Amino acid sequence: MAKSSRILLALSCKVCKKQNYITVKSKINSQEALALLKFCNKCKKVTDHKEKKKLD
Ligand SMILES: [Zn+2]
Repeated sequence: MAKSSRILLALSCKVCKKQNYITVKSKINSQEALALLKFCNKCKKVTDHKEKKKLD
């Protein structure tokens, strides 16, 4: 079996919906949705970013 427990995620700004970051997380370790404070280039400020699944 290949080590395919890591999944790619996009972090998108909750305010403008822009995808600002790409991250990888382990399926096993984190079941909950990520919510992070990150700087958004479009909003020009730190905003809530939420993970968005299915990134191909
Ligand atoms: Zn934004």
